[in-house]
Amino acid sequence: MPSGFRRLFQEISISNSFETLGLRAELVRAVADEGYTQPTPVQTQAIPVILAGRDILAGAQTGTGKTAGFALPLLQLLAARTAGGDASRRPIRALILTPTRELAAQIEESVRGYGRHLRLKSTTVFGGVSMNQQIGALRRGVDILVATPGRLLDHLQSRTVDLSRVEILVLDEADRMLDMGFIRDIRRILVALPSKRQNLFFSATFTPEIRGLADSFLQSPVEVAVAKSTETADLISQVVHPVDKDRKRAALEHLINAGDWRQVLVFARTKHGANRLAEQLDKDGISADAIHGNKSQGQRTRALAQFKLGKVRVLVATDIAARGLDIEQLPHVVNYELPNVPEDYIHRIGRTGRAGSSGQAVSLVCSEEGDFLRDIERLLKRSIERVVIEGFQPTGAPLRTDGASVASRQRRPQQRQQSGRPRTQGQGVRTGSGDGRRGQGAGAGGGGQGRNSSGDRQQRSGSTARRGDSQPHQNGNRSISSLLGGNR
Ligand code: AMP
Repeated sequence: MPSGFRRLFQEISISNSFETLGLRAELVRAVADEGYTQPTPVQTQAIPVILAGRDILAGAQTGTGKTAGFALPLLQLLAARTAGGDASRRPIRALILTPTRELAAQIEESVRGYGRHLRLKSTTVFGGVSMNQQIGALRRGVDILVATPGRLLDHLQSRTVDLSRVEILVLDEADRMLDMGFIRDIRRILVALPSKRQNLFFSATFTPEIRGLADSFLQSPVEVAVAKSTETADLISQVVHPVDKDRKRAALEHLINAGDWRQVLVFARTKHGANRLAEQLDKDGISADAIHGNKSQGQRTRALAQFKLGKVRVLVATDIAARGLDIEQLPHVVNYELPNVPEDYIHRIGRTGRAGSSGQAVSLVCSEEGDFLRDIERLLKRSIERVVIEGFQPTGAPLRTDGASVASRQRRPQQRQQSGRPRTQGQGVRTGSGDGRRGQGAGAGGGGQGRNSSGDRQQRSGSTARRGDSQPHQNGNRSISSLLGGNR
């Protein structure tokens, strides 16, 4: 290599290390323990800004390494300064708000991992588990609290948590939190925090509403954007298999068996659909389990653990239940049904091809889903290759993405909202060209319904339903992330 290039190459590698981002030795050791060799783009951009004490507005989604992007500098800042006031009690100095229990558990596990060579304490607060245990942990003192908004508010109301000494606030997956109706809770939590603090705001998408929330409390933030929500990891290969709706299960079984797939995450749109599919696969000799919002935390934890251990080959999940699942090197993600919110497609396939490993995202698409596919391809700004599986040539109406699909012509929004289910295979399917055109925005409109139809939300307070930490829970009070294996 010519010396000029060599020098340039060395400079690039040097500037691309955790040390050069300004992290202290304990943290550099911890990331090495995790097996990270280089910071990801969001880490490269966010870490120095956060270390400099600035507010940040970061556009990054799950899978980009954003957790370490905020957790590492946060740990460093807390380790570098001691808490003021009464030294006998550890005040909460950093609060990380995140939408779901799973994410809360995973983030806290990451925080603990990254902080393993420091003396900082962290804990989680989320719904579905006993408050008493959380109260005990809070009393013993923690530096970093990872919480879902609803349960944190419960603690605030019962005065079992004190946020008056928080120095750093992280809002993780802000778009999802708004989606889930947490906005009022977040605003009530903000009131309990000191006005002088550092704010770190992470969101995969930036709608005007998200911008409004960010503007309302960030102080001259530095903006960082790593991947637009329309970008999908290059390492993920994507394919659409056109298939008749009533042959999807057989097609899935064929793919699993023929490809000898050992670990497959399958997305279904409804809880019932997820259950039914998992049961049927199991009956057909392909071990499967389902995770969704109706399952207790304990059941979800067990299902995930079995999946991680390879004892369950297929995990069927709804969008919300799968949110934030970090399963190292998951090779196959299958969309058994396409999501009607195109962004969810990106979140779903982001479960594979993570942190440098390659993955395959397969979508089984029937003719009724033509419009969903069109919305997804518009968002991706490219089309996904269609491959008919041998022996599964569709016999019904053709798969069309020009707004003239079967569903376009049959769509009756009110009915879908009431039934809370995806469209049923139509009686009277016609194959001629139709008149049912749907604008780009219709996908998002349908999305709200679709997400409700997955039923992972529950009404809690106020007028907006929300999901995640408000679901009934029986016996799981442990972090799921220790079961996720890998470096989580
Ligand atoms: P996140 O976007 O925070 O959910 O992280 C996605 C995955 O990337 C997690 O499994 C992390 O452990 C992993 N990860 C984070 N940072 C790095 C890095 N610098 N190198 C390799 N893997 C990483």
